[in-house]
Amino acid sequence: MNIFKDLLPLQIVLFGKKIKKAISKAIKLNDMKRIIKFFLRNIPRKYLQKVVYFATNSIKVFYLGNKVECSVCKKHYRKFLPYGYVHSRENALCPNCLALERHRLLWLYLKERTDIFKKDISFLHIAPELCFIESFRKQKNIKYTTADLESPWADIHLNVEDMPLEDESYDFVMANHILEHVDNLDKALSEIYRVLKKGGFAILLSPINPKRETTYEDKNITDPFEREKHFGQKDHVREFGLDYASVLKKEGIEIVEDRFIETLDRKKVIRYALANPDCLTIENYIFVAKKL
Ligand SMILES: [Zn+2]
Repeated sequence: MNIFKDLLPLQIVLFGKKIKKAISKAIKLNDMKRIIKFFLRNIPRKYLQKVVYFATNSIKVFYLGNKVECSVCKKHYRKFLPYGYVHSRENALCPNCLALERHRLLWLYLKERTDIFKKDISFLHIAPELCFIESFRKQKNIKYTTADLESPWADIHLNVEDMPLEDESYDFVMANHILEHVDNLDKALSEIYRVLKKGGFAILLSPINPKRETTYEDKNITDPFEREKHFGQKDHVREFGLDYASVLKKEGIEIVEDRFIETLDRKKVIRYALANPDCLTIENYIFVAKKL
């Protein structure tokens, strides 16, 4: 994690005054919602995880306790931090590794329902989440490659719609929360499925509006504020609905909508703060694309 320390002066110069003002205001008001939302809305995507990492690690001492536990980093706290771009969710973000509810759920899923930690595999992690990177890198059985358009810790910089990678070269691909950003969804999916080996699988999670029957996309909406109004975030270009599985479907690909969370003990769901166990929706399911 030294990269973060090395880049601290740069971040202070870039965002110093604004961050300082927001942190002191948030601490005075005991209002972490405000500061996390400030980061999400003002820090460029490229630097976001680093800046949030600094902020949360400097205040995690205030969250000491043993009421919730992070399945990814194994640390426990009295509660997790609030998190949300437009509406904040309570008890969401691990102050140590930045895992959110979906990451903690996915980690359990990968451990319990897949064999990626047991056999030799090649794994392409697109738009890699910080909370997972070190754990995957440490795995001797995984040939691990991270890829992203601009992320500073990506091994390869690429556009998911046109990846400079060999056909059928990965056993496992993971691309979470990117399909709502890409211009051409069809191209992005075709590329992900192209680089997957036969018998391999991809995990493709995206934000889904459970109130929407079908996925909503309108290429004429290009203004960031209009995009936020229509698709939920300034850099989203569509909003997925209950038809998400059929949106992912392509010839030679089987889509599994795994309701893994429903098999977990209620106490576990609460302990790991995976979701509200009384209000599970399609957003809590794991979507797996298997190449036949
Ligand atoms: Zn954690």
